[in-house]
Amino acid sequence: MRLFIISLFFLSLTNSFQAQSVSVFSPDKNIKLEVSVSDGNAYYNLFYQKDEFLHQSPLGLVSSVGDFSKGLKLAGHKSAKIQESYQLNRSKVSQVNYKANELKCVFTNVSNDTINIIFRVTNTDAAFSYLIPKSKKNTTNCTVEKEITGFKLPEGTTTFITPQAPPSSGWEKTKPSYEEEYTREEPVGTKSQYGLGYTFPALFHLGDKGWLLLSETGVSDNYAGTRLSDASPDGIYTVTFPQEGENNNQGPVTATAVLPMQTSWKTITLGRTLKPIVESTASTDVVKPLVKTSKIFDAGRASWSWIVWQDESCNYNDQKTFIDLASDMKCEFILIDALWDTNIGKEKMTELVNYAKSKNVGVLLWYNSNGNWNTAPQTPKNLMNTAEARRKEMQWLQQIGVKGLKIDFFGGDKQVTMKLYHDILTDAAEFGLNINFHGTTLPRGWERMYPNYMTSEAVLASENLVFQQAFSDRYPSTATIYPFTRNAVSAMDFGPVFLNKRLHRNPNKGTIRKTTDAFEMATAVVFFSAVQHWGLTPENLKEKPAYLFDYLKSVPTVWDETLFIDGYPGKYCVIARRKNSKWYIAAINGENSTKKITVNLPMLKGKNVSVISDGVGQESKFSTQKFGKETKFNLELSANGGTVLFIP
Ligand code: CA
Repeated sequence: MRLFIISLFFLSLTNSFQAQSVSVFSPDKNIKLEVSVSDGNAYYNLFYQKDEFLHQSPLGLVSSVGDFSKGLKLAGHKSAKIQESYQLNRSKVSQVNYKANELKCVFTNVSNDTINIIFRVTNTDAAFSYLIPKSKKNTTNCTVEKEITGFKLPEGTTTFITPQAPPSSGWEKTKPSYEEEYTREEPVGTKSQYGLGYTFPALFHLGDKGWLLLSETGVSDNYAGTRLSDASPDGIYTVTFPQEGENNNQGPVTATAVLPMQTSWKTITLGRTLKPIVESTASTDVVKPLVKTSKIFDAGRASWSWIVWQDESCNYNDQKTFIDLASDMKCEFILIDALWDTNIGKEKMTELVNYAKSKNVGVLLWYNSNGNWNTAPQTPKNLMNTAEARRKEMQWLQQIGVKGLKIDFFGGDKQVTMKLYHDILTDAAEFGLNINFHGTTLPRGWERMYPNYMTSEAVLASENLVFQQAFSDRYPSTATIYPFTRNAVSAMDFGPVFLNKRLHRNPNKGTIRKTTDAFEMATAVVFFSAVQHWGLTPENLKEKPAYLFDYLKSVPTVWDETLFIDGYPGKYCVIARRKNSKWYIAAINGENSTKKITVNLPMLKGKNVSVISDGVGQESKFSTQKFGKETKFNLELSANGGTVLFIP
């Protein structure tokens, strides 16, 4: 029997013993992933049509069950067609028809231990995951010590990637938290800022060949959040586990699970243009819902005093003012940020929640995730890190009618922290609370895995507009990088839409906003987040034209469809999103000079469309346009400007 299988398997190989190889193509045949073994090392190469997007890139890992980093033999493989339709209700698309070709390769090492690698290739993505089957050895668990998975980009490739920060660095030792600047077309091989590699997602520009985005998905409590090393001299980025010092040195850097153990999926989105990267659903395609519930958790827009009025505004009266603002703006929520426990108190909070309810506004409340993995002093704290405290608090929150939580200042990417995210999400689902993570890791497939997951920060977000003028100055161009990187793989709680000239409660203080009003309107669409926390303040409604607020009162936060129209990271971005029959097309100019771009918008054929575009200086102007058969549109963007077209 055994002999029979082996001979059958050899027939299926294309090459000799020394260089075994097997391939899988995308359904449209444009993408080819080739798996090979050479001198006992496993590799894959990735092609788009005739062009090689990833050269011979290493596969394998070292585990307690066996060393799968060397001495490997391809012991068999199996192909399958995968077809699945699924729905999302808190994402950039609502209906996904997933079609992939799967290749499952079985490898054995010199001790005859077995590992499977599952590859999936769609018309836009390749993804793979390791599956370690039940062992013949007398063991139930497996610990993955390290991955040797790598990505070898072609020569001449440039990067849009964010460095990993050292553990216990930054404000109150809260890093790493995915709050670093993106590189802007640095050559592969440039040393990272801290010498600690880079976090996912990572965007690469392969010159004329096209673009490629690396990311990770499918991490619940089963694995650690991994990242990329600095590139080796021959240009290979290697998957790296968390740093020892993360989570204040608590918990191992390795990942342990019950056998059979499946690792996270690494996803590779690629194409000639940025279109597949903006539109890809790779991060949800290969994961499954983890929590069964009949409850639908609502997404929506929120008013948020903290961002411009800061800590002092976390008092009863100011929060009441922002509940009124939320109500005037037809927002679903108000976000009440840190320090509410001391400045408002639990008793008055019950009153405030009732007041919000009377105005049809749901309350979102801030919590410190801590624990003891950093020294961030904001309260309430020590209520989310243990099951007992968390469930007791969530019971109270449910009782008084709070709708969701913003939980801040997590300890990094170790498995123990990933388990905390998982535990919070699953408990919160039980108590009917939606979840937003801050000071946090990249969410990895969570939009589909958890019914109450809304959004995460994991980006240099709008608080930096308030904190530092330098960030404000480069924000227009930074904003045009996010749709192709961080926001391409999941919801991003940037906290956009500002209309104050200066970002301070006192109009004569604070950082100076460099964007136009139309740019700010466009960010409500360009940035995707199932819950959007806006930077609006009450005086905006008196100072700015009503059409801006009419638009904001109905702009969705979750979408049925998302399309890339045009753009280049750092320079400009045009994205179209649809909710029901209504299209929103938003453009932002990341450069400090006027820009004219002609775009084709066939979805607006025959439609009456409202247009908010740049007027004089920072001001906007409003117009309407009837599209006939001709669907070309000339965008005229001011320096740091923008435009939104929408079907009213
Ligand atoms: Ca933050």
